[in-house]
This record gives sequence, structure tokens and C-alpha cells, in this order.
Amino acid sequence: MEKEKTTAIILAAGQGKRMNSRIQKQFLLLNGYPVLYYSLKAFQESPADEIVIVTGPAEIAYCQKEIVERYGFSKVKAIVAGGKERCHSVYEGLKAAGKPDYVFIHDGARPFVTEEIIHRALEGARSWGACVAGMPVKDTIKLADEEGFAQFTPDRSRVWMIQTPQTFSYPLIFDAYRQLMEQEAAGQSIPVTDDAMVLETMTGKKAKLTEGSYENIKITTPSDLEIAQVFASKKRKNTIDTFRH
Ligand code: C5P
Repeated sequence: MEKEKTTAIILAAGQGKRMNSRIQKQFLLLNGYPVLYYSLKAFQESPADEIVIVTGPAEIAYCQKEIVERYGFSKVKAIVAGGKERCHSVYEGLKAAGKPDYVFIHDGARPFVTEEIIHRALEGARSWGACVAGMPVKDTIKLADEEGFAQFTPDRSRVWMIQTPQTFSYPLIFDAYRQLMEQEAAGQSIPVTDDAMVLETMTGKKAKLTEGSYENIKITTPSDLEIAQVFASKKRKNTIDTFRH
């Protein structure tokens, strides 16, 4: 039997306008390392065989030299240019992934993905074909009507906030994205916000929800970066403490 192959697509394209920063959020420094470094390190040390980075066309050379070569991320097999929206970047990553059995799709703006999350994600994809990391919400969620009044309150125990990695059997997710791109080319634009939604909308298949963590945040605004500094310092302290014992 041939060995199973798994590729991680790490997304680091897009403008990140909500950060109000000249430097894109993926490249801002967190405890002396670029935000993107952390998720690359996690996947470099994971069961993933290969990594594809998707970034802006102007950042490909920077990523190659200042991140991949500088920190020795030997699993990175390609760095490709992304597209207008996240879904276009994912499609570019999928095309460059070289037909693995499973694919992780991860936001480079989520630096605190861990080995445990990655393992659970891969197990989930093997069992169910599609699984997404998330956590049950802590706040009550309400759906608003057009006038901004609370219209509906879903049962909180069944509401999850969705994170990445989102992990799939490669042929399943590639086919869903191919259909999405074909529909878009035919003038039918379908708004999608994550990969599981592409799968649901295009194929009717459901993704299994697996446990992420409350620290697996996406850096979107300047206050997220402040929270991320706290998590990064804590992680560093834990590493030093473990080393001392
Ligand atoms: O902008 P947002 O926070 O939703 O981005 C989520 C992830 O998707 C980020 O890691 C970002 O780099 C990536 N992205 C992308 N291409 C785009 C837009 C976002 O790779 N066109």
C-alpha cells in the first residue's frame, strides 16, 4: 500500500484592512517572529508531508528568503500567489498541492494552532472526509432582523465558532472548489466564508466539528495582536520552564 500523503495549505495573502497597519498582519512581529512563522512551525513539526504557502505576489520572495530559508522550513514545497478573496487563495493553494490524500487548510493569521489540534483534524478527516476545528461559543448568539432587532436565539450548546485548520479528503474539497470557481466564471457569485461552507454549498456534504482551542484565535484587529502577545509570551515561558526542569 502506498503511503498516505498530506499537504498543509497556509494562507497568507489578502490585505487585512481591519489591522490598520502598513505591514500585513501575517508578517507583523510577535515575540520577535513573524505571525506566519508560528503556524509554519506547527505544521513543519506535524504529520503533514508538505506545505504550500499562499501569499501576495509581492511577498513571495520575502516569504522564501526571510521565513522559509531563514527558519529552515524544509516541508515548504511551493509558495504561490493568492487571489482576490480567501476562497480564490485557497483554490490556488489546492491547485499547487500536488494531489495528496488529505489537505489541511489553515489561516496563517492563526499562530496558536497546536500539535493536538492538527492531530485531531487529521483523524477527523480520515474518519469523516471533512472536519473543521472550532469551539462552542461562550456568549449567547442572536440573529438580527433587517431592523436590527433580536429575532432568534439559537441553542447556545449547539453554536460553535469556527476556526482552522479545516481538513479534507483532497478530491472532495478540490471538486467543491472547482465547482465554486466554475459557477463564479459563469457569473453566479456565491458568498462563502469558510471551506466547510464551500463543501456544504457545492456538494451537500457535512463537515464534522472537532475541538480547536480558545487560544487558536485569528489576528484580525490591533486588539487581537495585543491578546496574541500575551499568548505568545506565555508559550515562551512554558517552553523555558519545561527546558529548565
Ligand atoms: O481577512 P481574513 O482575516 O478573513 O483572512 C483569513 C486568512 O485568509 C488569513 O490568513 C489571510 O492571509 C487569508 N487570505 C488569503 N487571501 C485573501 C484573503 C485572506 O489568503 N484574498
